[in-house]
Amino acid sequence: MASGESGIRATARLVRFAEHEARAEALRAQLAGLHGTIRLAKRTSNLFRARTTTSTPGLDVSGFTHVLDVDPLARTAEVEGMVTYEQLVDATLPHGLMPLVVPQLKTITLGGAVTGLGIESSSFRNGLVHESVLEMELLTGDGRIVVARADNEHSDLFHGFPNSYGTLGYALRLKIELEPVKPYVRLDHVRYENTEEYFAALDEACRTGSADFVDGTVFGPGEQYLTLGTFTTSAPATSDYTWLDIYYKSIRERETDHLTVRDYLWRWDTDWFWCSRAFGVQSRLPRLLLGRKLLRSSVYWKLVALDRRFGIAAKILKLRRLPPEETVVQDIEVPLSRAAEFLDFFRREIPISPVWICPLKQRPGGANSPLYEMEPETRYVNFGFWSAVPLDPGEEPDTHNRLIEAEVTRLGGRKSLYSDSFYTEDEFWRLYNGDAYRKLKTAYDPDGRLLDLYAKCVRRR
Ligand SMILES: Cc1cc2nc3c(=O)[nH]c(=O)nc-3n(C[C@H](O)[C@H](O)[C@H](O)COP(=O)(O)OP(=O)(O)OC[C@H]3O[C@@H](n4cnc5c(N)ncnc54)[C@H](O)[C@@H]3O)c2cc1C
Repeated sequence: MASGESGIRATARLVRFAEHEARAEALRAQLAGLHGTIRLAKRTSNLFRARTTTSTPGLDVSGFTHVLDVDPLARTAEVEGMVTYEQLVDATLPHGLMPLVVPQLKTITLGGAVTGLGIESSSFRNGLVHESVLEMELLTGDGRIVVARADNEHSDLFHGFPNSYGTLGYALRLKIELEPVKPYVRLDHVRYENTEEYFAALDEACRTGSADFVDGTVFGPGEQYLTLGTFTTSAPATSDYTWLDIYYKSIRERETDHLTVRDYLWRWDTDWFWCSRAFGVQSRLPRLLLGRKLLRSSVYWKLVALDRRFGIAAKILKLRRLPPEETVVQDIEVPLSRAAEFLDFFRREIPISPVWICPLKQRPGGANSPLYEMEPETRYVNFGFWSAVPLDPGEEPDTHNRLIEAEVTRLGGRKSLYSDSFYTEDEFWRLYNGDAYRKLKTAYDPDGRLLDLYAKCVRRR
């Protein structure tokens, strides 16, 4: 018989699941009551493409923010679709566990990362976020609530949901795998001057599995860092990059470092990688004044949204008689064998630095996702770059983004769809498996209540 305490925990769990079912049923009824095309009404977002203004009604999913269960024995968690990774990590770390891949920005949600893909420094061994999902409950475009698993009648939706960007259905509940952590992560920042040697070392680190986490930062030719993270049970001292000191700067300044596991997972969030410099908050005084709470990616994202609305940066450039700029915010992937070639192209054509580097490979035995197929035996490298570049007189406003798209396709790679895309419809469906998508759309959203993937990702609907 369950002891008093575990009995109370089991009852609380049952109540949480019953409340979740009531919320799901209410959402289904809400969808049935709405007419026309539906979209999510959501408080936070890490989507970067601007959308055309719309009068489309939003489905209110604001209640789906509960961690329903963490099972330390089975090493699983069950969470609602709008739970942020910050919430989830706070719920799992006390059990000595973490999700297999934790995307770097605190307000990325489970549902958003699975439908929009998620990557981090554990992706060289754990693949993308969706590869550790065991089960999903979804509200589909045709108004059904279905449970999709790899082995049931909705396995097509289970595999097809990643990279569908909420155009087949919305994830209301997800069951995911967790892995054990140690209290600290030791970091070794290793500098390489030669690009071929750099990618060979990255390959070697991934193949030998000598580190638990592998990522890299390229500041310029001759200044390329590989960062190897290893779990440890103790640390001589830990650094703190959540306020006055800045993580990405430390990569150039120290060869080894130690962080608590929580600080390691959020090392990029405080300064949105390095993008906080655009808001003038990388010197001591503003950081002192702002404090820890305001130094986070979700705050910068709000500033970007304001700039978009009022065109502030463009007006400043004009006043200062500087050329207009093209926003280049992208994450792309190419096979590791072509990574040096991509970096070479990038240096020639795109004046942006630093660049984030993250290796990834499909998890051993993992299943492929038809809308973002990867070669199971191929190691890929993700390049992340988030800035703006000046345009020469007469250059089209999307010149550099189009150059990148063409080069990535030439190198046998692909890009994430969270930001601007410019593909023709034919090219888009060739890259993102139009045949598979159309079958899924017919099965789960035949009346097109949700937007079409091309309309959403390229036409910015
Ligand atoms: C500057 C920048 C850097 C980034 N870097 C990284 C990175 O390094 N690693 C990484 O993994 N990702 C990165 N991302 C991408 C980010 O992970 C994706 O944009 C992700 O989809 C955002 O999730 P979100 O929860 O904020 O969702 P939102 O931005 O709110 O939504 C994204 C899309 O998913 C849909 N959606 C949201 N929730 C659900 C749901 N429950 N069910 C179905 N559809 C849903 C929305 O309709 C929308 O189309 C970056 C983004 C930016 C802007």
